[in-house]
Amino acid sequence: MNTQKVIAELDAKHGIVIDGQARGAANTFEVHDPATGRTVAEVADGTAAAARSAVDAAHRAFPGWAKTSPRQRSDILRRVFDLMIADTERLTALICAENGKSQADARAEVGYAAEFFRWFSEEAVRTDGAYGVSPAGGTRTVVTHKPVGVAALVTPWNFPAAMATRKIAPALAAGCTVVLKPAAETPLTALAIAGILSAAGVPDGVVNLVPTTDAAGVVENWLSDDRVRKMSFTGSTGVGRVLLKQAAERIVNASMELGGNAPFIVTADADVDAAIAGAMVAKFRGGGQACTAANRFYVHASVVDEFVAGFGAEVSALRVGPASDSASQIGPLVSERAAQRVAAAIDAAVADGAVVAAQAQAPTAGWFVAPTLLTGVAPDAAILADEIFGPVAPVVVWNDEDELLRWANDTEYGLAAYVYAGRLQDAVRLAEALDAGMVGINRGVVSDPSTPFGGMKQSGLGREGARIGMHEFQETQYFSVAFD
Ligand code: NAD
Repeated sequence: MNTQKVIAELDAKHGIVIDGQARGAANTFEVHDPATGRTVAEVADGTAAAARSAVDAAHRAFPGWAKTSPRQRSDILRRVFDLMIADTERLTALICAENGKSQADARAEVGYAAEFFRWFSEEAVRTDGAYGVSPAGGTRTVVTHKPVGVAALVTPWNFPAAMATRKIAPALAAGCTVVLKPAAETPLTALAIAGILSAAGVPDGVVNLVPTTDAAGVVENWLSDDRVRKMSFTGSTGVGRVLLKQAAERIVNASMELGGNAPFIVTADADVDAAIAGAMVAKFRGGGQACTAANRFYVHASVVDEFVAGFGAEVSALRVGPASDSASQIGPLVSERAAQRVAAAIDAAVADGAVVAAQAQAPTAGWFVAPTLLTGVAPDAAILADEIFGPVAPVVVWNDEDELLRWANDTEYGLAAYVYAGRLQDAVRLAEALDAGMVGINRGVVSDPSTPFGGMKQSGLGREGARIGMHEFQETQYFSVAFD
């Protein structure tokens, strides 16, 4: 796949898509390849005026789209799935070019991202409701669901395809129209997906795209527009807080997929080899830049030496390099700032008493950070408090289950957690005690379009995927019917 050609064909200088029309802007912004820092594309920089036009289009398209039959919407979404799968190599090239993740990770993301269209093509025809008899008997109640209206979608850079499709698919299945703002680091994949949606038969105006460097201006414009009835955001907890405050002004229905700080627990009788294999996936997918990434490893004292030896050998053997090399397993971080932040976190942890137990080799040019295993980490170490969002695995030793659970839950986050245990009863007991929306039990992956993805505490509000993912884009309405 010739990535430069693929990017050129996107015509990103006209990368604002409103009412099915590609539009340019007075200014453009640059997208960089994180492996080299080189500019790979110039993209139209959407303004508040473009944001407003996008809502105009979505608002105009809404009544028609909401009225299509569920079967029509289902058939279109299914076509999107088929087209995305057929286009896997092009989408993989775009994700690699702008996000930097390895080809294997990017290809897996395309499959995962496409699955949301297949799943919601199947859910689109299952708008359920209820029929009830009032307690006094004089009325019948009918509960139904209808699309909430124009939805504003805001997505991060770490999964340029999947974070967009996880929102677009349920919104369209429910009958909503959308305005989407991708992250400025990764607008190209979203632009390609907009083209696929159109090719699959999504009518003009149903999906509108506004790439921009003025995230605050564009999103504030949407949140203050009476025609926007829904906000679905994926990103950091800090920005989520800001947007929730803005949404409060007009009581906009808000779904928030925010940051995480996942504990990864290994018990005394766990299958240590399986735990190491799970740890590699849970920690290093996308170079650790996942909201579900294992952030803190709590390993029982009786198996910690075996775990660290095996995990360390795997970490040291990781091939770190640009996505252009198909043998690379770990790419660079998304930006120079991110690379500096993660490198500084390693240095601070070491200054705090941690030991580098294993480290891979990494290129010195580009925004790379060497995958690193840290041991001797104290339970209250600073590196455990925040999302690392990079390829660093700190290991803490535990002995007492009550203390372990206190440590694991001692965070404002509550997105994902992982438990490896020999006895399923122990794993479930631990999982039930964890304040996490998703728990991988003897598995290092929790993402699955058929399941309710989301977090507790300050990791978010609402869920994506599963049946509930479509409900997030619906209003519940009931009719009270006189029966006497
Ligand atoms: P971010 O919060 O900086 O940005 C997310 C999106 O919000 C981007 O599109 C960005 O342009 C936009 N944005 C930034 N400031 C804004 C503002 N003031 N007003 C309106 N929009 C604004 O997050 P990021 O660095 O792109 O992504 C990493 C974060 O996302 C991590 O915290 C990660 O855990 C989280 N994340 C969560 C999930 C989940 O499902 N819970 C999934 C992926 C990533």
